[in-house]
Amino acid sequence: MGGFVAFPLIMGGFVALAFWGLERGYDPAAWGAGLTVLNFFVILGAEQLLPRNPDMNVFRDRQSLNDIGHGLLLATLARPVGGALSVATLGLLAGFRQQWGLGTLWPASASLPVQFALALVLWTFSDYWIHRSLHSFDRLWWFHAVHHDTPQMHILKSGRLHFGEEIFNAVLKPVPLLLLGAPPEVMVGVGLWIVFDGNLVHSNIDQRFPSWAHYFVPTVQLHNLHHAQDRRHQDSNYSGSTAVWDVVFGTFSHPDRNPLGPLGIENNPVPPGFVAQLAFPFRRERRAQGTAETT
Ligand SMILES: [Zn+2]
Ligand SMILES: [Zn+2]
Repeated sequence: MGGFVAFPLIMGGFVALAFWGLERGYDPAAWGAGLTVLNFFVILGAEQLLPRNPDMNVFRDRQSLNDIGHGLLLATLARPVGGALSVATLGLLAGFRQQWGLGTLWPASASLPVQFALALVLWTFSDYWIHRSLHSFDRLWWFHAVHHDTPQMHILKSGRLHFGEEIFNAVLKPVPLLLLGAPPEVMVGVGLWIVFDGNLVHSNIDQRFPSWAHYFVPTVQLHNLHHAQDRRHQDSNYSGSTAVWDVVFGTFSHPDRNPLGPLGIENNPVPPGFVAQLAFPFRRERRAQGTAETT
């Protein structure tokens, strides 16, 4: 029973809180930061009370400190730099927006939930293709491998991204929304949704779903398959937010029909040290070991 309510309770509760604050006109940046911190601790606590796999735990994983290091770099360096570059890109795009009449396309007078739903459709589309490109091109995969190399799944893995990958993500993913002129509160709403579902799909909370739900909601089972060593599964379920694009573009693996094997990367070439992990995508001789063929 507990497992079936974990996702609706946590995801639904935080989405409701996000809307409540944004509708009331709270400062999006401060409200967003507060909810992000609260979400982290709620999920960390739920992992201890209702663990999915007793062998996985933040406090016993030797990579946890590295995860925190990657997460801090992401928050203090990659996202601000990526965001600034994205805004700079937007400056370049502003001319095109005017020229193509895109700036007036966004339905700014629609209610916040409607605007948000539209934003999510566009965001998950670009998220899908950017994530798929990280798996399809070797040079990008070496950055993304730092996220995939771990056999453990828990809340800290959500922020375990090489800062280079996160700059790539932060620059490109918002472009369709910025191009269409989505307002800041919608951008913040989407950003929070990504944090909430990213944390839940990596968490070690016992979350259960009826079989059909895997087609519609971001389930931990879908994302665990994506973290499987088996390449057929690793190169599937790219979208962490909805399975719709994976179904449309033929990369969907249903968790009930595909048993989950070991997680991580076979012959893992990613080094265990933090600094070595940062340097890894830039070092040709290390990358040549292990799984050189990733496409
Ligand atoms: Zn991936
Ligand atoms: Zn992941």
